[in-house]
Amino acid sequence: MKQLKKEYLSKKVQDLKPSGIRKFFDLAAGMKDVVSLGVGEPDFVTPWTVREAAILSIEQGYTSYSANAGFLELRKEIAGYMNKQFNLTYSPQSEIIVTVGASQAIDIAMRAILNPGEEVIIIEPCFVSYSPMVEMAGGVPVHVQALKENDFKILPSQLDAVITEKTKAIMLCSPNNPTGTMLNKKELEDIAMIAIKHDVLVIADEIYAELVYDEEYTSLPSVEGMRERTILISGFSKGFAMTGWRLGFVCAPKEMSQAMLKIHQYAIMCAPTMAQFAAIEALQNGRSDIIEMVKSYRRRRNYMVQSFNEIGLTCHSPGGAFYVFPSIESTGLSSEEFAERLLLEESVAVVPGNVFGESGEGHIRCSYATSMDQLQEAVKRIKHFISKLER
Ligand code: PMP
Repeated sequence: MKQLKKEYLSKKVQDLKPSGIRKFFDLAAGMKDVVSLGVGEPDFVTPWTVREAAILSIEQGYTSYSANAGFLELRKEIAGYMNKQFNLTYSPQSEIIVTVGASQAIDIAMRAILNPGEEVIIIEPCFVSYSPMVEMAGGVPVHVQALKENDFKILPSQLDAVITEKTKAIMLCSPNNPTGTMLNKKELEDIAMIAIKHDVLVIADEIYAELVYDEEYTSLPSVEGMRERTILISGFSKGFAMTGWRLGFVCAPKEMSQAMLKIHQYAIMCAPTMAQFAAIEALQNGRSDIIEMVKSYRRRRNYMVQSFNEIGLTCHSPGGAFYVFPSIESTGLSSEEFAERLLLEESVAVVPGNVFGESGEGHIRCSYATSMDQLQEAVKRIKHFISKLER
């Protein structure tokens, strides 16, 4: 068949780089007996009562659109949840939008605030979608590196140094993907001071807020002066083990929410209704399931941190999410080389740290959202791999 003219595609899309994670999934997909620490999603199946609520809604014939912003009943549940868990008050009528995953929430947030050429500060290592989403919205991503010597926590002075006249927002993710690093109240207050000083917005990706293991969680808009300048992104994928349902939400002051709603209503109409019924049940009765999942993740995190340190791959203990981010610098391999050889020689899939940004180099991301048996097998194989390298 004739090759399609590349000019059919927009310049912006032509310039987008494919995600560095994909390459490893594609390689792993063609192999047998792979232990995967690669995927960023819970190994738990969505709790049964949540699944049942969706089934019931289908049986009862609730198959039409909901309100653009999502069922009001669900928005009321979200408002109650945000209030109870994080001490935040958002109006279900005008400040909450139910989205197709946190992913769509980030997308409409960018598109609602960015004029061409305006900058968004992206703190690396980070989720691979942020920069492309800024670019697709016409903005310019400005990368700043959270460093391993600071436990991958960004310093306020680093933010201060990169903010310019063109800066519109800071993208902040805590607990973080890929490092698992969580920022405490004091650290958030320090970042808030910079945002307020320069009058910039913050898009706070708090999708992992339920999965925290040591300290109490502080949500950014609960910090003094931040509610009015924060677009809060969250959702059901991680904490509620609902990745495939594609359901997230965004909370923001009325003017920003209504701007995002304009985009949402034209592009998406509404999030899937059966998933919304499931989410109502998850918020009403899902707390005990979350508590059990968090207990299990904490055990696995402890095991992985201890194992990596014993193997000689320095690994700090992350406060949240379900990733560890050990250093592989002692091996002398680049993160790409390490990940590729580990996959080909020992059939263990991990993600090289460099795909998450410059300061991720020298590390690998390992998701511990898989069974303890699989984790033990992975550790055994990684140990074998390292001992071979040492020979
Ligand atoms: N933000 C972060 C930091 C993530 O890790 C992910 C998923 N990997 C998302 C957002 C997207 O989540 P969702 O499934 O809700 O679109």
